[in-house]
Amino acid sequence: MHIDTTCVQAGYTPGNGEPRQVPIIQSTTFKYDTSEDMGKLFDLEAPGYFYTRLQNPTNDFVAAKIAAMEGGTAAMLTSSGQAASFFSLFNLCENGGHIVSSSSIYGGTFNLIAVTMAKMGISVTFVPPTATEEELHAAFRPNTRVVFGETIANPALTVLDIEMYARVAHEHGVPLVVDNTFPTPVNCRPFEWGADIVTHATTKYMDGHGSAVGGAIVDSGKFDWRAHADKFPGLCTPDESYHGITYVDRFGLEGAFITKCTAQLMRDLGSIQSPQHAFLLNLGLESLHVRMPKHVENGQAVAEFLEQHPKVESVRYSGLPSDPYYKLAQKYLPNGGCGVVSFVIKGKRQDALDFMRRLKLIAIETHVADARSCCLNPATATHRQLSDAQLEAAGIPVGLVRLSCGLENKADLIADLAQALG
Ligand SMILES: *Cc1c(COP(=O)(O)O)cnc(C)c1O
Repeated sequence: MHIDTTCVQAGYTPGNGEPRQVPIIQSTTFKYDTSEDMGKLFDLEAPGYFYTRLQNPTNDFVAAKIAAMEGGTAAMLTSSGQAASFFSLFNLCENGGHIVSSSSIYGGTFNLIAVTMAKMGISVTFVPPTATEEELHAAFRPNTRVVFGETIANPALTVLDIEMYARVAHEHGVPLVVDNTFPTPVNCRPFEWGADIVTHATTKYMDGHGSAVGGAIVDSGKFDWRAHADKFPGLCTPDESYHGITYVDRFGLEGAFITKCTAQLMRDLGSIQSPQHAFLLNLGLESLHVRMPKHVENGQAVAEFLEQHPKVESVRYSGLPSDPYYKLAQKYLPNGGCGVVSFVIKGKRQDALDFMRRLKLIAIETHVADARSCCLNPATATHRQLSDAQLEAAGIPVGLVRLSCGLENKADLIADLAQALG
Protein backbone atom coordinates (compact mmCIF):
# COMPACT_ATOMS: atom_id res chain seq x y z
CA MET A 1 0.00 0.00 0.00
CA HIS A 2 1.08 3.58 -0.58
CA ILE A 3 1.89 5.76 2.45
CA ASP A 4 -1.31 7.80 1.82
CA THR A 5 -3.48 4.72 2.23
CA THR A 6 -1.50 3.56 5.24
CA CYS A 7 -1.98 6.95 6.94
CA VAL A 8 -5.73 6.68 6.50
CA GLN A 9 -6.45 2.98 6.89
CA ALA A 10 -3.73 1.08 8.74
CA GLY A 11 -3.83 -0.10 12.35
CA TYR A 12 -7.53 -0.50 13.02
CA THR A 13 -9.96 -2.58 10.96
CA PRO A 14 -13.45 -2.68 12.48
CA GLY A 15 -15.46 -5.89 12.36
CA ASN A 16 -19.11 -6.11 11.38
CA GLY A 17 -21.13 -3.45 13.22
CA GLU A 18 -18.12 -2.11 15.12
CA PRO A 19 -17.20 1.61 15.41
CA ARG A 20 -15.76 3.11 12.21
CA GLN A 21 -13.39 5.37 14.14
CA VAL A 22 -10.74 3.99 16.52
CA PRO A 23 -12.56 3.50 19.85
CA ILE A 24 -11.13 5.25 22.91
CA ILE A 25 -10.81 2.51 25.50
CA GLN A 26 -10.98 4.81 28.51
CA SER A 27 -10.30 2.13 31.09
CA THR A 28 -7.37 1.60 33.42
CA THR A 29 -8.07 -2.10 33.73
CA PHE A 30 -9.60 -5.16 32.04
CA LYS A 31 -11.86 -7.86 33.48
CA TYR A 32 -11.21 -11.63 33.41
CA ASP A 33 -13.31 -14.67 34.29
CA THR A 34 -10.57 -16.54 36.12
CA SER A 35 -7.29 -15.74 37.82
CA GLU A 36 -5.67 -18.36 35.60
CA ASP A 37 -6.72 -16.39 32.49
CA MET A 38 -5.12 -13.28 33.92
CA GLY A 39 -2.02 -15.16 35.07
CA LYS A 40 -1.28 -16.12 31.47
CA LEU A 41 -1.13 -12.42 30.57
CA PHE A 42 1.30 -11.67 33.37
CA ASP A 43 3.52 -14.51 32.13
CA LEU A 44 3.33 -13.09 28.57
CA GLU A 45 1.93 -16.48 27.52
CA ALA A 46 -1.29 -15.06 26.06
CA PRO A 47 -1.79 -11.71 24.32
CA GLY A 48 -4.23 -9.34 26.00
CA TYR A 49 -4.59 -6.36 28.27
CA PHE A 50 -4.54 -6.14 32.03
CA TYR A 51 -3.49 -2.63 33.02
CA THR A 52 -3.23 0.58 30.97
CA ARG A 53 0.13 1.54 32.52
CA LEU A 54 1.60 -1.14 30.21
CA GLN A 55 -0.75 -1.38 27.25
CA ASN A 56 -4.11 -0.16 26.01
CA PRO A 57 -6.00 -1.24 22.85
CA THR A 58 -6.45 2.36 21.56
CA ASN A 59 -2.70 2.95 21.78
CA ASP A 60 -1.98 -0.36 20.07
CA PHE A 61 -4.25 0.44 17.09
CA VAL A 62 -2.41 3.72 16.58
CA ALA A 63 1.04 2.21 17.21
CA ALA A 64 0.26 -0.45 14.58
CA LYS A 65 -0.51 2.33 12.09
CA ILE A 66 2.81 4.06 12.82
CA ALA A 67 4.64 0.72 12.48
CA ALA A 68 3.03 0.24 9.05
CA MET A 69 3.92 3.80 8.00
CA GLU A 70 7.59 3.28 8.90
CA GLY A 71 7.69 -0.25 7.49
CA GLY A 72 8.47 -1.75 10.91
CA THR A 73 7.34 -4.93 12.66
CA ALA A 74 6.25 -3.55 16.04
CA ALA A 75 5.67 -0.21 17.75
CA MET A 76 4.58 1.36 21.03
CA LEU A 77 3.35 4.79 22.09
CA THR A 78 4.89 6.79 24.93
CA SER A 79 3.71 9.81 26.89
CA SER A 80 6.18 12.15 25.16
CA GLY A 81 8.95 12.25 22.60
CA GLN A 82 11.42 12.44 25.48
CA ALA A 83 10.10 9.15 26.88
CA ALA A 84 10.42 7.55 23.43
CA SER A 85 14.07 8.66 23.17
CA PHE A 86 14.89 7.48 26.69
CA PHE A 87 13.14 4.10 26.37
CA SER A 88 14.64 3.34 22.96
CA LEU A 89 18.17 3.94 24.32
CA PHE A 90 17.76 2.49 27.81
CA ASN A 91 16.23 -0.69 26.36
CA LEU A 92 19.66 -1.36 24.81
CA CYS A 93 22.15 0.44 27.00
CA GLU A 94 22.37 -0.01 30.76
CA ASN A 95 24.80 1.01 33.50
CA GLY A 96 28.33 0.74 32.09
CA GLY A 97 27.20 1.12 28.50
CA HIS A 98 28.19 3.77 25.98
CA ILE A 99 26.24 5.67 23.32
CA VAL A 100 27.61 7.19 20.12
CA SER A 101 25.38 10.13 19.19
CA SER A 102 25.33 12.88 16.64
CA SER A 103 25.91 16.16 18.47
CA SER A 104 23.32 17.79 16.24
CA ILE A 105 20.16 16.68 18.06
CA TYR A 106 17.21 18.16 19.95
CA GLY A 107 18.33 20.02 23.09
CA GLY A 108 16.11 17.90 25.32
CA THR A 109 17.61 14.70 23.96
CA PHE A 110 21.14 16.10 24.31
CA ASN A 111 20.46 16.82 27.98
CA LEU A 112 18.80 13.42 28.48
CA ILE A 113 21.88 11.62 27.17
CA ALA A 114 24.64 13.91 28.43
CA VAL A 115 23.29 14.64 31.92
CA THR A 116 20.48 12.35 33.05
CA MET A 117 21.69 9.10 31.49
CA ALA A 118 25.21 9.90 32.69
CA LYS A 119 23.79 9.73 36.24
CA MET A 120 22.71 6.17 35.40
CA GLY A 121 26.28 5.23 34.51
CA ILE A 122 25.85 5.51 30.74
CA SER A 123 28.50 7.45 28.87
CA VAL A 124 28.33 9.12 25.48
CA THR A 125 30.61 10.30 22.71
CA PHE A 126 29.10 13.04 20.56
CA VAL A 127 30.24 13.27 16.96
CA PRO A 128 29.73 16.38 14.83
CA PRO A 129 27.17 16.11 12.01
CA THR A 130 29.99 16.62 9.53
CA ALA A 131 31.99 13.63 10.86
CA THR A 132 33.62 11.40 8.27
CA GLU A 133 33.22 7.62 8.34
CA GLU A 134 36.69 7.33 9.97
CA GLU A 135 35.79 9.89 12.65
CA LEU A 136 32.58 8.02 13.37
CA HIS A 137 34.48 4.71 13.71
CA ALA A 138 36.87 6.35 16.15
CA ALA A 139 33.99 7.22 18.52
CA PHE A 140 33.25 3.55 19.29
CA ARG A 141 34.36 1.71 22.42
CA PRO A 142 34.06 -1.94 23.42
CA ASN A 143 31.03 -1.02 25.60
CA THR A 144 29.17 0.91 22.86
CA ARG A 145 25.62 -0.41 22.60
CA VAL A 146 23.76 2.00 20.31
CA VAL A 147 24.18 4.86 17.82
CA PHE A 148 21.73 7.77 17.78
CA GLY A 149 20.89 10.63 15.41
CA GLU A 150 18.00 12.69 13.99
CA THR A 151 17.00 12.54 10.32
CA ILE A 152 16.59 16.34 10.34
CA ALA A 153 17.92 17.80 13.56
CA ASN A 154 15.84 20.19 15.66
CA PRO A 155 16.77 23.09 15.57
CA ALA A 156 20.07 22.90 13.60
CA LEU A 157 18.29 21.39 10.54
CA THR A 158 21.30 19.22 9.67
CA VAL A 159 20.50 16.05 7.69
CA LEU A 160 21.82 12.70 8.98
CA ASP A 161 23.71 10.45 6.57
CA ILE A 162 21.57 7.50 7.68
CA GLU A 163 23.14 4.93 5.36
CA MET A 164 26.66 5.76 6.55
CA TYR A 165 25.68 5.82 10.24
CA ALA A 166 23.88 2.47 9.87
CA ARG A 167 26.83 0.87 8.07
CA VAL A 168 29.31 1.95 10.75
CA ALA A 169 26.97 0.97 13.61
CA HIS A 170 26.51 -2.49 12.10
CA GLU A 171 30.26 -2.95 11.63
CA HIS A 172 30.50 -2.49 15.40
CA GLY A 173 27.61 -4.89 16.04
CA VAL A 174 25.15 -2.31 17.39
CA PRO A 175 21.87 -0.83 16.08
CA LEU A 176 21.17 2.68 14.80
CA VAL A 177 18.28 4.55 16.44
CA VAL A 178 16.95 7.47 14.38
CA ASP A 179 14.60 10.19 15.65
CA ASN A 180 12.43 10.74 12.56
CA THR A 181 10.21 13.45 14.06
CA PHE A 182 10.77 16.24 11.51
CA PRO A 183 10.37 14.49 8.13
CA THR A 184 7.88 11.86 9.40
CA PRO A 185 7.59 8.58 7.43
CA VAL A 186 5.79 10.55 4.71
CA ASN A 187 9.09 12.18 3.69
CA CYS A 188 11.68 9.64 4.92
CA ARG A 189 11.58 6.05 6.12
CA PRO A 190 14.94 5.46 7.85
CA PHE A 191 14.50 1.66 7.82
CA GLU A 192 14.88 1.78 4.01
CA TRP A 193 18.39 3.18 4.60
CA GLY A 194 19.46 0.68 7.24
CA ALA A 195 18.27 2.22 10.54
CA ASP A 196 17.09 -0.36 13.09
CA ILE A 197 14.85 1.57 15.49
CA VAL A 198 12.90 4.78 14.79
CA THR A 199 11.54 7.18 17.40
CA HIS A 200 9.07 10.07 17.14
CA ALA A 201 7.88 13.05 19.10
CA THR A 202 4.30 12.55 17.88
CA THR A 203 3.71 15.95 19.52
CA LYS A 204 5.01 17.50 16.31
CA TYR A 205 3.81 16.82 12.73
CA MET A 206 2.15 13.47 13.46
CA ASP A 207 -0.35 15.12 15.79
CA GLY A 208 0.16 18.29 13.78
CA HIS A 209 -2.42 20.45 15.55
CA GLY A 210 -0.59 21.29 18.75
CA SER A 211 -3.06 19.29 20.80
CA ALA A 212 -1.34 16.30 22.44
CA VAL A 213 2.18 15.61 23.71
CA GLY A 214 3.26 12.07 22.82
CA GLY A 215 5.94 9.78 21.42
CA ALA A 216 6.39 6.52 19.53
CA ILE A 217 9.06 3.84 19.13
CA VAL A 218 9.15 1.55 16.07
CA ASP A 219 11.30 -1.56 15.53
CA SER A 220 12.38 -2.59 12.03
CA GLY A 221 12.65 -6.21 13.23
CA LYS A 222 15.87 -6.51 11.26
CA PHE A 223 18.65 -6.17 13.84
CA ASP A 224 20.04 -9.62 14.71
CA TRP A 225 20.31 -9.43 18.50
CA ARG A 226 21.37 -13.08 18.68
CA ALA A 227 24.44 -12.41 16.54
CA HIS A 228 25.58 -9.93 19.23
CA ALA A 229 24.10 -11.67 22.26
CA ASP A 230 27.04 -10.67 24.48
CA LYS A 231 26.15 -7.00 23.95
CA PHE A 232 22.41 -7.41 24.48
CA PRO A 233 21.89 -9.84 27.38
CA GLY A 234 18.57 -8.12 28.17
CA LEU A 235 17.12 -9.40 24.91
CA CYS A 236 19.04 -12.68 24.59
CA THR A 237 19.14 -14.16 28.11
CA PRO A 238 16.27 -15.02 30.50
CA ASP A 239 14.48 -12.11 32.22
CA GLU A 240 14.05 -13.25 35.82
CA SER A 241 11.51 -10.46 36.41
CA TYR A 242 9.36 -12.22 33.80
CA HIS A 243 9.64 -15.86 34.83
CA GLY A 244 12.75 -16.52 32.80
CA ILE A 245 11.42 -15.40 29.41
CA THR A 246 14.10 -14.82 26.76
CA TYR A 247 12.63 -12.10 24.55
CA VAL A 248 14.29 -13.04 21.23
CA ASP A 249 13.30 -16.70 21.66
CA ARG A 250 9.68 -16.02 22.60
CA PHE A 251 8.92 -13.02 20.37
CA GLY A 252 11.45 -13.33 17.53
CA LEU A 253 13.49 -10.53 16.03
CA GLU A 254 10.23 -8.86 14.93
CA GLY A 255 8.81 -8.50 18.46
CA ALA A 256 11.60 -8.82 21.03
CA PHE A 257 12.62 -5.15 21.31
CA ILE A 258 9.14 -3.67 21.76
CA THR A 259 7.96 -6.49 24.05
CA LYS A 260 10.96 -6.01 26.36
CA CYS A 261 10.47 -2.24 26.28
CA THR A 262 6.80 -2.67 27.27
CA ALA A 263 7.26 -5.48 29.78
CA GLN A 264 10.20 -3.90 31.61
CA LEU A 265 10.40 -0.16 31.01
CA MET A 266 6.73 0.71 30.64
CA ARG A 267 5.91 -1.55 33.58
CA ASP A 268 8.51 0.07 35.83
CA LEU A 269 8.64 3.66 34.55
CA GLY A 270 5.02 4.05 33.43
CA SER A 271 5.31 6.70 30.71
CA ILE A 272 2.36 5.55 28.62
CA GLN A 273 0.39 7.78 26.27
CA SER A 274 -3.19 8.30 27.36
CA PRO A 275 -5.79 6.67 25.07
CA GLN A 276 -7.35 10.13 24.55
CA HIS A 277 -4.04 11.40 23.19
CA ALA A 278 -3.66 8.31 21.00
CA PHE A 279 -7.10 9.04 19.52
CA LEU A 280 -6.11 12.66 18.76
CA LEU A 281 -2.81 11.44 17.33
CA ASN A 282 -4.67 9.10 15.00
CA LEU A 283 -6.78 11.98 13.67
CA GLY A 284 -3.52 13.75 12.87
CA LEU A 285 -2.08 10.69 11.16
CA GLU A 286 -5.14 10.39 8.91
CA SER A 287 -4.13 13.62 7.15
CA LEU A 288 -0.33 13.55 7.61
CA HIS A 289 0.32 12.68 3.94
CA VAL A 290 -1.82 15.67 2.88
CA ARG A 291 -0.28 18.09 5.36
CA MET A 292 3.45 17.32 4.93
CA PRO A 293 3.70 18.43 1.28
CA LYS A 294 2.02 21.73 2.24
CA HIS A 295 4.45 22.29 5.15
CA VAL A 296 7.31 21.62 2.69
CA GLU A 297 5.82 23.95 0.05
CA ASN A 298 5.53 26.74 2.62
CA GLY A 299 8.98 26.09 4.11
CA GLN A 300 10.62 26.15 0.69
CA ALA A 301 8.85 29.35 -0.40
CA VAL A 302 9.64 31.14 2.88
CA ALA A 303 13.29 29.99 2.80
CA GLU A 304 13.68 31.28 -0.77
CA PHE A 305 12.09 34.61 0.21
CA LEU A 306 14.31 35.03 3.29
CA GLU A 307 17.48 34.09 1.42
CA GLN A 308 17.22 37.07 -0.90
CA HIS A 309 16.11 39.58 1.79
CA PRO A 310 18.74 42.28 2.61
CA LYS A 311 17.96 42.23 6.36
CA VAL A 312 18.61 38.46 6.59
CA GLU A 313 22.17 37.33 7.15
CA SER A 314 21.75 33.59 6.49
CA VAL A 315 19.10 30.89 6.08
CA ARG A 316 19.23 27.19 6.92
CA TYR A 317 16.83 24.96 4.97
CA SER A 318 17.98 21.76 3.31
CA GLY A 319 15.75 22.43 0.29
CA LEU A 320 17.94 25.43 -0.67
CA PRO A 321 20.78 24.59 -3.11
CA SER A 322 23.03 26.88 -1.02
CA ASP A 323 22.46 24.79 2.13
CA PRO A 324 25.38 22.57 3.24
CA TYR A 325 22.96 19.64 3.62
CA TYR A 326 21.28 20.06 0.22
CA LYS A 327 23.00 17.00 -1.28
CA LEU A 328 22.10 14.70 1.62
CA ALA A 329 18.55 16.06 1.51
CA GLN A 330 18.30 15.25 -2.20
CA LYS A 331 19.18 11.66 -1.33
CA TYR A 332 17.14 11.08 1.83
CA LEU A 333 14.34 13.65 1.39
CA PRO A 334 13.56 13.77 -2.35
CA ASN A 335 10.05 15.11 -1.63
CA GLY A 336 11.33 17.72 0.83
CA GLY A 337 11.98 17.57 4.56
CA CYS A 338 9.66 19.66 6.68
CA GLY A 339 8.36 23.19 7.23
CA VAL A 340 10.96 24.37 9.73
CA VAL A 341 13.35 27.10 8.56
CA SER A 342 16.15 28.69 10.63
CA PHE A 343 17.48 32.14 9.76
CA VAL A 344 19.66 34.86 11.25
CA ILE A 345 18.53 38.48 11.28
CA LYS A 346 21.27 41.04 10.76
CA GLY A 347 22.07 43.11 13.84
CA LYS A 348 21.87 42.48 17.56
CA ARG A 349 19.60 40.42 19.80
CA GLN A 350 17.14 43.35 20.01
CA ASP A 351 16.72 43.39 16.22
CA ALA A 352 15.50 39.79 16.27
CA LEU A 353 13.13 40.57 19.14
CA ASP A 354 11.77 43.68 17.41
CA PHE A 355 11.21 41.66 14.23
CA MET A 356 9.30 39.00 16.14
CA ARG A 357 7.19 41.60 17.97
CA ARG A 358 6.08 43.04 14.60
CA LEU A 359 4.84 39.65 13.32
CA LYS A 360 1.04 39.54 13.14
CA LEU A 361 0.20 36.06 11.85
CA ILE A 362 3.23 34.06 12.97
CA ALA A 363 3.07 33.56 16.75
CA ILE A 364 5.89 33.34 19.31
CA GLU A 365 5.75 29.83 20.77
CA THR A 366 7.96 27.08 22.19
CA HIS A 367 6.72 24.66 19.58
CA VAL A 368 7.27 23.53 16.01
CA ALA A 369 5.42 21.45 13.45
CA ASP A 370 1.97 22.85 14.12
CA ALA A 371 -0.76 23.70 11.60
CA ARG A 372 -0.32 27.34 12.72
CA SER A 373 2.99 29.05 11.94
CA CYS A 374 5.13 29.92 14.92
CA CYS A 375 8.64 31.07 15.73
CA LEU A 376 11.18 31.26 18.52
CA ASN A 377 14.42 33.13 19.24
CA PRO A 378 16.57 30.52 21.05
CA ALA A 379 18.82 33.25 22.53
CA THR A 380 15.94 34.65 24.59
CA ALA A 381 13.94 31.44 25.07
CA THR A 382 15.37 27.91 25.14
CA HIS A 383 18.98 29.13 25.53
CA ARG A 384 18.38 32.34 27.51
CA GLN A 385 20.73 31.34 30.34
CA LEU A 386 23.69 31.73 27.94
CA SER A 387 25.57 35.00 27.39
CA ASP A 388 26.09 36.35 23.87
CA ALA A 389 29.64 34.95 23.89
CA GLN A 390 28.47 31.52 25.06
CA LEU A 391 25.75 31.51 22.41
CA GLU A 392 28.30 32.29 19.74
CA ALA A 393 30.48 29.41 20.98
CA ALA A 394 27.49 27.06 20.90
CA GLY A 395 26.86 27.99 17.27
CA ILE A 396 23.60 29.78 18.08
CA PRO A 397 23.77 33.38 16.82
CA VAL A 398 21.78 35.84 18.96
CA GLY A 399 19.73 36.77 15.91
CA LEU A 400 18.73 33.18 15.07
CA VAL A 401 15.01 32.66 14.56
CA ARG A 402 13.52 29.17 14.25
CA LEU A 403 10.41 29.47 12.13
CA SER A 404 7.90 26.64 11.77
CA CYS A 405 5.80 27.16 8.65
CA GLY A 406 2.24 25.96 9.18
CA LEU A 407 -0.54 25.22 6.73
CA GLU A 408 -1.55 28.82 5.92
CA ASN A 409 -1.18 30.26 2.41
CA LYS A 410 2.51 30.86 1.71
CA ALA A 411 1.80 34.35 0.30
CA ASP A 412 0.30 35.38 3.65
CA LEU A 413 3.32 34.04 5.55
CA ILE A 414 5.73 35.88 3.25
CA ALA A 415 3.67 39.09 3.58
CA ASP A 416 3.84 38.85 7.38
CA LEU A 417 7.60 38.26 7.30
CA ALA A 418 8.10 41.10 4.81
CA GLN A 419 6.21 43.68 6.90
CA ALA A 420 8.01 42.57 10.08
CA LEU A 421 11.45 42.72 8.44
CA GLY A 422 10.54 46.24 7.25
C1 LIG B 1 10.11 17.89 20.43
C2 LIG B 1 11.11 16.87 20.09
C3 LIG B 1 11.42 15.83 20.97
C4 LIG B 1 10.79 15.73 22.34
O1 LIG B 1 9.42 15.50 22.23
P1 LIG B 1 8.39 15.89 23.42
O2 LIG B 1 7.11 15.31 22.97
O3 LIG B 1 8.40 17.37 23.55
O4 LIG B 1 8.91 15.21 24.65
C5 LIG B 1 12.34 14.88 20.58
N1 LIG B 1 12.93 14.95 19.37
C6 LIG B 1 12.66 15.94 18.49
C7 LIG B 1 13.34 15.96 17.16
C8 LIG B 1 11.74 16.93 18.81
O5 LIG B 1 11.48 17.92 17.94
